[in-house]
Amino acid sequence: MVSTIAKRHPKTLQQAIVYFADPDMALATMIRLRWPDGVIKCPTCGCEKVAFIRSRMVWECSEKHAKRQFSVKVGTIMEDSPIKLDKWLTAMWLIANAKNGISSYELARSIGVTQKSAWFMLHRIRLAMQGKDGGRLGGYVEVDETYIGGKARFMSGERKARLSAKRPFGGKVPVMGLLQRSPETGASVVKTVVLTGERQLKKHAMQSLVRDRVDTGSTVNTDALKSYLGLDRDYIHKVIDHAEAYAQGTVHTNGLENYWSLLKRMLHGTYVSVEPFHLFRYLDEQAFRFNLRKLSDAARFAFAAGNVFGKRLTFAQLTASNPTC
Ligand SMILES: [Zn+2]
Repeated sequence: MVSTIAKRHPKTLQQAIVYFADPDMALATMIRLRWPDGVIKCPTCGCEKVAFIRSRMVWECSEKHAKRQFSVKVGTIMEDSPIKLDKWLTAMWLIANAKNGISSYELARSIGVTQKSAWFMLHRIRLAMQGKDGGRLGGYVEVDETYIGGKARFMSGERKARLSAKRPFGGKVPVMGLLQRSPETGASVVKTVVLTGERQLKKHAMQSLVRDRVDTGSTVNTDALKSYLGLDRDYIHKVIDHAEAYAQGTVHTNGLENYWSLLKRMLHGTYVSVEPFHLFRYLDEQAFRFNLRKLSDAARFAFAAGNVFGKRLTFAQLTASNPTC
């Protein structure tokens, strides 16, 4: 007999693995997230008259149309995946809660799939983790840039010169960060944007990024980069010149400096090399965990798993390049 305790929602990784290993529990978790009112609807026509076919764990719609039979995976990031729900849900738990992320090699070993499958799963889960960044920022906001990637230091002089002629910033990708401080709760919120190409580092482009994301009238702290000159038209703009000091009272970008070091630890430690093309996905992954860091593991998992619906990402979309990270 299964005790009621065993049926309780999992709180730890170990409990989650046991819980999701039961196909009924895994399915119940997905149903709860997808149809919170408990009414299962056909994803094709919206009809509520559906019959469950237990042997195949699918439903059949009573209306006559194509794709009458549907599983809980239809219309989610898991659609067309032969990988079972127990592995998907465990993977979501892992990535939502692993402080420094989880590589495809690690995930492959942990849940018993190939590295290529794990890589594809992780990218699809990252898609589910996108966009949970809580709207526009306001109050006290820090804005700063950093450069990510590039392995120029391991290259020969000649190759380095050749590459840097072709790629500005030595193959590194510029990234802008915006961080809303929250001294009372300590729950600061971060957003990151990949600045693609030199154009994006120009004044107009950088200021539009700030204006799109930060409420007018907020206090914005930046370094002395010229691209930020003029923000004082819409903001209380405070500048800290890093050539002189790192902080003057509340004028600093130390929140973001800390965030950059967390981010770089994750990227260098776990993912080692990230294609610039995919960088935004890893940035969003880290922002998701950071912005929800005050939640429990179970709540962070629910956020990720509750966001898998209405999203698709195909292997072709992801790229034809070698899945290596
Ligand atoms: Zn239908």
